[in-house]
Amino acid sequence: MSYVDEVLARVHEKNASEPEFLQAVDEVLDSLRPVIEANEEQFKKEALLERICEPERQFKFRVPWVDDKGQVQVNTGYRVQFNSAIGPYKGGLRLHPSVNLGIIKFLGFEQIFKNSLTGLPIGGGKGGSDFDPKGKSDREIMAFCQSFMTELCKYIGADTDVPAGDIGTGAREIGYMFGQYKRIRGLYEGVLTGKGLTYGGSLARTEATGYGLLYITEELMKDHGESMEGKTCVVSGAGNVAIYAIQKAHQMGAKCVTCSDSTGWIYDSEGIDVELLKEIKEVKRARLTEYAAARPSAEYHEGRGVWQIKCDIALPCATQNELHLEDAKQLVANGCKAVCEGANMPTTIEATEYLQKNNVWFIGGKAANAGGVATSALEMSQNSERLSWTFEEVDGKLKDIMVNIYHNIDDAAKRYGMEGNYVAGANIAGFEKVAEAMIAQGVC
Ligand code: NDP
Repeated sequence: MSYVDEVLARVHEKNASEPEFLQAVDEVLDSLRPVIEANEEQFKKEALLERICEPERQFKFRVPWVDDKGQVQVNTGYRVQFNSAIGPYKGGLRLHPSVNLGIIKFLGFEQIFKNSLTGLPIGGGKGGSDFDPKGKSDREIMAFCQSFMTELCKYIGADTDVPAGDIGTGAREIGYMFGQYKRIRGLYEGVLTGKGLTYGGSLARTEATGYGLLYITEELMKDHGESMEGKTCVVSGAGNVAIYAIQKAHQMGAKCVTCSDSTGWIYDSEGIDVELLKEIKEVKRARLTEYAAARPSAEYHEGRGVWQIKCDIALPCATQNELHLEDAKQLVANGCKAVCEGANMPTTIEATEYLQKNNVWFIGGKAANAGGVATSALEMSQNSERLSWTFEEVDGKLKDIMVNIYHNIDDAAKRYGMEGNYVAGANIAGFEKVAEAMIAQGVC
């Protein structure tokens, strides 16, 4: 049995109840085979893969808070500090009822390689809670966030672990958490990113993941002799990533005709009206039915279905495992040229393989959505300098980072004879740097 297979068997045995984590480990280790095989003796002796698949540390804690009726509610909080070989742990906080340790571990594991790809000094971590922010009042959100931070603040810090937003954690939640951290620890430091602009946030952080996704997609198209101009895109999600992906795609001359949320989806033949979508999702926090009610060119459908729509480019920007094999078949049948993931692991392994076999250019989330965390790292730099850069400065650096990521993953794939396999390229390029740093730092 090869070293990779030995480790995979052990990881499966140890983490049998965590399917998302296993899916992420399978995908990464499988694509690293050529790199591991070239260094098998050394990596095995160093137990490098065993160490990389085991979080350095993980916290699970009680989050009690009082709702508007005076009833005490209890949620579970998590922080997984996965790997600090190349910098302080960095990764978002997800607030969603589906959150459990396996999901946080899958996200933290992916974050190691994504953060490495940005070229910036940040390690991998992730956290969150099974708290559902939907339908909660502002006061309830604050009560939850303060209680969550009361425990989390013991484990984080500007030079140790710097959380950020993710699903369900936006500027409002980060603000409440930052206030509580400051109050308990007595420190005004860049302990969280995604902060408001008046208290240490970075311009362009809000837009960064969506914009970054489009910068790398544009570079991919260019490398294949194409441009974004006139392309039809289908997008899933209607949150932070989806909104700014749509905005940047439109600025590049493409047309995004769909978006979705957890109850339904929109097809708008005229192209999604971003300002209207922002008003509904960012201000009113309402459902997509309101979008269709306000736009004669839009149809609302219950359930899922954006991948049925004919497109040149598909951009999944909602959540994990939202693009299945049958969706991939539909995309290929409709002539889709590229799939670039705004969300984390939105495409199942079978769907990814089908797309790749059918010559669809596929860039996975680790590379394609790295613009968010890269800009978070730029926020950390500004906080350390106690300076704020202009929007153009941050956006320019973001674009350079995404273009570099594209070329690094493309080169890594070519070096191992897998030209065009950007998933393997991303895993290899991300892994090489972390592996070198881990080996240099000895057994730890
Ligand atoms: P948001 O909470 O802002 O938006 C998420 C969107 O996806 C919403 O439209 C939501 O619908 C929908 N959604 C969530 N869960 C489900 C589900 N189970 N089924 C169908 N739709 C769902 O999150 P973000 O836009 O920030 O994040 C989206 C994805 O991008 C996640 O995978 C996240 O990890 C990833 N990501 C985000 C980054 C960032 O900077 N924000 C950085 C890198 C990756 P509804 O409102 O109805 O719940």
